[in-house]
Formats: sequence, structure tokens, C-alpha cells
Amino acid sequence: MQGSDGSDLWNLTLQHSPIGMALVAPEGRLVRVNPAMGDMLGYDVDELTKRGFQEITHPDDLAGDLAMVEQCLAGDIDSFRMRKRYLHADGRVVWGDLSAALVRDADGRPLHFISQILDVTEQQEQQERLTVANADLERERQALEAIFETVGVGLLLIGRDGRYERMNRRHQETMQVTFPDGHLGMAGQLADVYRLDGRTLLTAEEMPSSRAARGEEFDDYAYWVGDDPLTRSAYSTSARQVRSAAGEKLGAALAYQDITELMRAMQVKDEFVSSVSHELRTPLTSVLGYLEIIGGREDLPADVSAQLRVVRRNAARLETLVSDLLHVGELGEGRLPLQRDAVDLAALVRHAVEAARALASTSGVTLEFDAPDHLGALVDEQRIRQVVDNLLSNAVKYTRHGGSVEVLLRGGPEDIELEIRDSGIGIAAHEVEHVFARFFRGGEALQQQIPGTGLGLNIVSSIVAAHGGDVSLESEVGRGSTFRVTLPHGAD
Ligand code: ADP
Repeated sequence: MQGSDGSDLWNLTLQHSPIGMALVAPEGRLVRVNPAMGDMLGYDVDELTKRGFQEITHPDDLAGDLAMVEQCLAGDIDSFRMRKRYLHADGRVVWGDLSAALVRDADGRPLHFISQILDVTEQQEQQERLTVANADLERERQALEAIFETVGVGLLLIGRDGRYERMNRRHQETMQVTFPDGHLGMAGQLADVYRLDGRTLLTAEEMPSSRAARGEEFDDYAYWVGDDPLTRSAYSTSARQVRSAAGEKLGAALAYQDITELMRAMQVKDEFVSSVSHELRTPLTSVLGYLEIIGGREDLPADVSAQLRVVRRNAARLETLVSDLLHVGELGEGRLPLQRDAVDLAALVRHAVEAARALASTSGVTLEFDAPDHLGALVDEQRIRQVVDNLLSNAVKYTRHGGSVEVLLRGGPEDIELEIRDSGIGIAAHEVEHVFARFFRGGEALQQQIPGTGLGLNIVSSIVAAHGGDVSLESEVGRGSTFRVTLPHGAD
């Protein structure tokens, strides 16, 4: 064959080309193949020339290839190009980009095809991997899109500059209510948005979108939307910053939850608590009054006197509960009037400690008290007594037999400090921030069935706050708790 189909140059090209090349007879036999073609399909060159292209073509691509060959032989076309699969000697598939041209003799009879085959297996595989990855991405995108649109919260994405970038349908609906005159698509646009007191409008800086745009992250930021107290809606908003994988700030994501029903239910609960406690107080005052009168009689049999004492103790307990409820009701309405007087706090705390002694000793709890002889302050005596009583009775109540309670009162240059320390059951770390919430009862208290309403500490914190003071708590489960109250000396 040497020299029969061209010059030495052609042979050299054939030998050294990185592309598979073959001369193929019209019926399909591989008359001549180059080394690159042998390498590509895993055969040596001589072996390949014993085969037809049909044998090395993947059966699924054979019909297509044959059809093109037919068209060439019929003279419809001179050449063709196709991507097809070949079979490697070891059985695996090799993808080839085939270009074939039919060479005819001087009379126009088909001589042979010149075929060039570029191995594109890697490219093909990469393309297939890309297609799979794209399909995965698309599935993920659709799933996220579905979640974005179907979750029961409004979702908003804002850019680094505070521009609104995307929101779901639910948030679009909320926006129409919040901004009936339209929204300009930038964080911080003002609207009829009020704090939870229902009266104070949020400033532009306080709008949740501005806070998020400034880089803040927050949870459960609640407010009212709308002017009319009867029809307004309440929302609770959370925000998180969005960063790229490299940590670059991209913007923020906000979630808006409609909590109107919850807020209305809480209002109803407050109103209920307030009206029930009002209704209970009048008959209870009368019961206590008559008990006082009856208790003062000299002619009562001894056993009746003892029974009356039990009745009076329980009625007094009921009165405490009712006044706690009333107090909470008043707080719910946002009013806590103070009646400030010059009070000797040392005497006040001493009396409270003395009053708690009886309970402490029946509970097997030692009670220690350390205070200066006198410590004057301008406070609401009754309310501060309530603070001390609540903290003391808790300390005794939540301390087991054999434990101790210490009460320390100190007057500093700035503030007065009252510390009530117990060696009781303690409060779990995750509960510490909740103990001052209304109706909160700790897990341990519930588990040990220690009676309580969850109102005491809420009352304590509101009275202390009304005096311009502060109450803090340190506690360790099983070791005890320390409540620390700081109060300014006088009116602020
Ligand atoms: P109550 O004592 O009626 O449940 P409080 O508002 O006084 O309500 O207290 C709220 C919760 O805080 C209690 O239920 C209890 O779990 C926890 N707590 C309060 N004081 C103490 C204390 N001194 N030691 C341990 N737990 C306490």
C-alpha cells in the first residue's frame, strides 16, 4: 500500500497525527488506520485493518452511520460529520467526533472514505456530568422556590445597600397592607408601624428592614402595623445577614410572621385575668373582714378558733393570689403608679425576714440576715415589701430541707443593693432569661410539683423597673440561686 495513496508527507501525517485516521473501503473495511486510531480503540494497527467499521461502532449508533455512508455512496453528499460511539477493545465506550469524506476514482466510482476521528470521550463525559449537575441544581432551585413561596411567613431579601431584591408572595401581600401608597424598594420606608405599646411609631432606623440593612441580626422583633387598634396586625420579624462563601457581605434575609391572633389572645387573657381578679377581690375582702370580726370573739370554742385560723390563712393566701393577678392585669395595661415615701429599707427587709422565719423553720431552712441598722430610701413601701416577700418566699420555697437562705442589704454611694441567696434547686441556664416572664414556671419546679403561679418574679421585675432599678439572677442547678436587686436611693 505504501505510496499508493499519496506522498511521504501524507504518510508522515498519518503516522504522527494525534487524531485517529483511517481509509475505509466502501463496504466498511478499515483498509488503513494510523497509530492514533489504534491507541484510541485499544487495538494494534494490523488487527484493526482486519475489521470493518461496523464492528467497532456502538450498535446504537450504527444505523445512523450506515445511513450517512449510503447517502455518500448514492452521491447525495460528499462527506459527513457526526458524533458517535465506538467500542474499545476492552468493551468500554469511546466517543468520537467523526469526519468522513468519500474519494472517487476518475470515473466517479467510490474508492474509499477518508475518516478522521477525534476522541471526545472526556469532553462528552464532562458534558454529561455538567448536565446531571445542572439538573440537580435546577431541582434544588425548584425545591427552594417552592419552599420560598409556600412557607407561612413573609420572606424578604435585601441587598448590601438596603435595596429590596426578592420577596415571596406572602410578603408582597403584607407590603400592600403596610404600605398602601406603594413602596420604593428601599429599607427604612416609614409606615403606620407601632411598637408593642400600640402608641409609639417606629422611626425609620427602628424599622426591621433598616436594622437588617445596618448589619443587625435579631429574632422575634414584634410590632403592630396599622392605625386602627381594632383591625391592625401584629408581626414578629427575624433577620440574618447573608454572606458569600468567602465571607463577603451580600445583604440580609428577613422573615415576617403574622402574630396577630397570638397578640389578640394575649390581650383577651390579660383582660380576663384583670376582670376575674377584680370580681374576686370584693367578696374576698368581705370574707376577710368578717373573719376578723368573728376571730375577735372571746366566746368561741377552742377547736372553732383553730379552724378559723386555717380559714383565715387560706383566705389570706387567696388574697395574695388575687392581688398578684390584679397587679399583673395593671401591668398589662401599662400602668404601675408608685407612692414614694421616705422608707427605712433596713427595717422593711428585717420585718420581711422575720415574717418568713416561721415558714423557713417548718421547711428546715436556715435564714440569715445582714443589713445596716438604718437605710433610708424614697420608695413605694408596699411595692418594695412585695418585692422582698416574693424573693424571700421563693428562696425558701425552692430550697430543700437543710438548706440556707441569706439576705444581704447594703447601701452603696450610687445604689442600694439587696441580695437574696439560697442553696436551693437552682435554675437551668436556658431558663434564666425567662424566669421574669409572666406565668413562667421552671421545669424543675413543675417536676417537683412545687406550687406557684409564675407571677411573682414578673411582679418583682416590674416594680423594680418602675423604681428605676434592676434585678439580676445568677443560678446553678442543684447549687442555688442569687437574686440581686439594685435600687436608686431616691426619686429619679
Ligand atoms: P412561682 O414561684 O409562683 O412559680 P415566680 O415568678 O416567682 O413564680 O418564679 C418563676 C419560676 O422561677 C419558678 O416557677 C421557678 O421555676 C423559678 N424560680 C424562682 N425563684 C427561684 C429560686 N429561688 N430557686 C429556684 N427557682 C426559682
